[in-house]
Amino acid sequence: MRLRTLGILLFLGATILLFAFVILSGTAVWAYLSPVLPARIVIGGAVFPPYVVLAVFGTLLLALISAVLVTFTVMLNRAVVLPLAELTGAMARFADTQEIPSPPDMPPVKEIADLGRTFNELAAKVQATHARDTEMSRVKSDFISTAAHQLRTPLTGIRWALEALAKEPLTENQHALVESAMSKSRDLVGTVGTLLDISSIESGKHVYEFEQVALPELAAHVVKDLLPIAQERQVTLQLMPSETPLPRVRADRKQVTWILNNLVENAIRYTPPGGTATVSFGTTGGRVLTFVRDNGIGIPEKDRDNIFERFYRAGNAIAKENGGNGLGLYIARTIATDHGGDLGFANNPEGAGTTFTLSLPTSR
Ligand code: ADP
Repeated sequence: MRLRTLGILLFLGATILLFAFVILSGTAVWAYLSPVLPARIVIGGAVFPPYVVLAVFGTLLLALISAVLVTFTVMLNRAVVLPLAELTGAMARFADTQEIPSPPDMPPVKEIADLGRTFNELAAKVQATHARDTEMSRVKSDFISTAAHQLRTPLTGIRWALEALAKEPLTENQHALVESAMSKSRDLVGTVGTLLDISSIESGKHVYEFEQVALPELAAHVVKDLLPIAQERQVTLQLMPSETPLPRVRADRKQVTWILNNLVENAIRYTPPGGTATVSFGTTGGRVLTFVRDNGIGIPEKDRDNIFERFYRAGNAIAKENGGNGLGLYIARTIATDHGGDLGFANNPEGAGTTFTLSLPTSR
């Protein structure tokens, strides 16, 4: 119940009690006084019956007490209800915008003034922590970006040198070693490229190359690429074609492939041998949905709110998979929202496992 409603109810209750009290006490006073009162009372030359004088006196008394009650209610409203409503509004604005409210007009009640002050101090601390976190994350992103840039040039040099070496007359053993070094350096160049992409996406400076994309086609490539990993881990990986033709989406092919790759790879990694990971599609109000479903370890209730945070990994995932950095979903969701879409998940209603849903707007 709202404080204001409670105040009004209290006021009405007090008024009714007051009326009852005045009527009852008036009747009692009348019963007590009527035998001793004169038959007529003269005031300022005018003659009144005594019950009229008593009624007027009672009414004046009632009006006076009502005025006191109304004044009290108005003061309560000003001192308590309005400052509390102002404070609630300030808290809601802070939650929305992180903007510290200006101190409310000094409410006359000390405890409420203290509450307002404490809230402002708390908000200032939250804002300072938030600013520090943002700065730290900017420094970290800058560091990743600088390190990746610095690594890219020498790595490319190593790759070229290895490619040149591979063309030289080598023994079979030497050739195998050079091939292996070339493959590793290609992987490293790829990883550095991903780090650069991640830091530019994180900083909001990434320039997307939007085009019309058929999601089933991208998903088919991803599934094909990840099939060997699924087989190695004895997880059945399947792609369910859509029953109806799907509209194309407006997307950056490379980045959406990255999202799908991440989701399908997670579905494989977090599903024990013998399980299944499935990619399927749907549509809803101008969006194409891609579902990546598995019957694996699922996401525990206590971790659900944090799963899209940077570097967050659920306990059951850490126990199952050593490798992992908790960055994939964060980046994937950032890319999805940069596309005007979204990425969400739900634990499967029947049985174990999770379904991630990528939603992207159709191209117009
Ligand atoms: P990583 O997999 O490298 O830890 P991600 O950002 O891709 O990082 O995933 C973050 C966390 O989300 C994982 O550590 C895991 O706890 C959870 N998660 C993601 N996909 C699944 C899945 N299909 N099943 C269960 N948990 C998952």
